[in-house]
Amino acid sequence: MKYVTAAFLLFAAWSPVTLLGQSPTADLILVGGQVTTMDPARPRAEAIAVKGDRILAVGSNEEILKYADAETRNIDLQGQFLMPGFIEGHAHFLGLGQSMMMLNLAGAGTWDEIVDQVAEAAKVTPPGEWIIGRGWHQSKWKELPAPNVGGYPTDARLSELTPNHPVLLTHASGHMSFANSYAMRLAGVDQETVAPSGGEILRDESNQPIGVFRETAQGLIARVRAREEAKREPAERLQKSMRAIQLASEECLRKGVTSFQDAGSSFAVVDLLRRAANQRKLGVRLYVMIRDSNDALQANLSRTKMIGYGDDFLTVRAVKRSIDGALGPHGAWLLAPYDDLPGSTGLNTATIESVTRTAEIAIQNGFQVCVHAIGDRANREVLDIYEQMFRQYPSNIPRRWRIEHAQHLHPDDILRFGQLDVIASMQGVHCTSDAVFVPKRLGMRRSAEGAYAWQSLLKSGAIVTNGTDAPVEDVDPLASFYASVTRQIGEGVTFFPEQKMTRMQALRSYTLDCAYAAYEETEKGSLVPGKLADLVVLSNDLTSCPDDAILKTEVVYTIVGGKIVYQQEPRQPLNRSGN
Ligand SMILES: [Zn+2]
Repeated sequence: MKYVTAAFLLFAAWSPVTLLGQSPTADLILVGGQVTTMDPARPRAEAIAVKGDRILAVGSNEEILKYADAETRNIDLQGQFLMPGFIEGHAHFLGLGQSMMMLNLAGAGTWDEIVDQVAEAAKVTPPGEWIIGRGWHQSKWKELPAPNVGGYPTDARLSELTPNHPVLLTHASGHMSFANSYAMRLAGVDQETVAPSGGEILRDESNQPIGVFRETAQGLIARVRAREEAKREPAERLQKSMRAIQLASEECLRKGVTSFQDAGSSFAVVDLLRRAANQRKLGVRLYVMIRDSNDALQANLSRTKMIGYGDDFLTVRAVKRSIDGALGPHGAWLLAPYDDLPGSTGLNTATIESVTRTAEIAIQNGFQVCVHAIGDRANREVLDIYEQMFRQYPSNIPRRWRIEHAQHLHPDDILRFGQLDVIASMQGVHCTSDAVFVPKRLGMRRSAEGAYAWQSLLKSGAIVTNGTDAPVEDVDPLASFYASVTRQIGEGVTFFPEQKMTRMQALRSYTLDCAYAAYEETEKGSLVPGKLADLVVLSNDLTSCPDDAILKTEVVYTIVGGKIVYQQEPRQPLNRSGN
């Protein structure tokens, strides 16, 4: 009910007809476009008028030109496609910025190339300083590393080339890290070290750690690095963090992303984001899930709630937990063993009691609950926790709790998303990135019935959102949109195409449904008078262009709160004189 009232008031306040029968003047109009509004009352239009940071009107060219006077900026779209700005539904904001400040290992074709990349970096890094990289993925390598343990490299050559630097290289999934011997020595890791629960230290035949740390075991190395980072001057740390925020903002705006749902930041990071919001340095609007211990949540949640802080650039009203790992490194928690690792059903990274306690703290403080669950067992456990909490704390309106990823589901659980009003917060591009190993890990039956089951979930009545999990994947919404509507993994090869989304379903998953998943559908996600003027102009019409053209689509303008914050470089005019 609350939302209906808010929407009505907003509309009444902004409806042009209420203003003394005269059309108010727009600051900006965009005319002559192919406008897709995501508003069922008026799905298509030609033009849009903006006043301040809000949409003033949407309509035909003729209707919108009435809002212009001599002061109004008028952009002729020349038939280009305009839609609501993309809302990134699940990614890591500071992580995205930081990933742009470290070695990018995603392009490496072999492990040896990565070792060479790190050795080069060591030449220009002062001894004792950490060398940090991310994005390696063993399935992208053309050959197996030699030597290897179960396909993973050992640290020998890397450690030999970096005797004076601790090295930490994070896997593309974020669920695994590689450390050299210097870093392991700093962390006190040796043959005797026992992995923490929910984690694993990979070892060779002589029980020697090879450098690979899975899930919670990553903390052994990461904590040492964090301790060293903490010794830096506060001003230096702050400057680095603000740089990461700036890089992440710019990257999002270049790609047409106007809002960003941050899937897990500590209270310290939230303080940093608030500072950035105060200084008007958040380029995109953030919706933040807090990830911290239950004790910290209990102590700090109530003072941290923010809705629309800093001119609607920062909202903090969700908490994040993880109950399992990722499928690639066999960390997804399954009901039955892996097909290619019959002794394992994956990893359970947080107890049911602990996640349940988080949910209780969230309810007491009016926060949304978002839990990372990838395997079918993990999803079932989280649905069970949610169902129990909904029963224990009944509410008249759906709580809109979310499962982050929801990648591999048992058919019995798919219907429960719709029944319980649980949001499936998914990432289209993960489907095509993982498709090569999904059937290997799960076999054909489990893959067919429950892998990225978008159509089954939508039919259950569930809301399915979209995103990229950046920096796990590029934050580019067009790549994820393409994956969502094609599920194409190679020339003519598609991954269970019956589950692909229609163009409109995919657009909705990236706009209105992401807004709904953050209680923001009256503010964002469709082009309706009174909503925030967050828009993107693209070179192709995503509702109708050929599949191949989706990936060639360029972002022409990104507009946040009525301001043009990204504009494609104008093309050099052709030199016709022949000089
Ligand atoms: Zn994530």
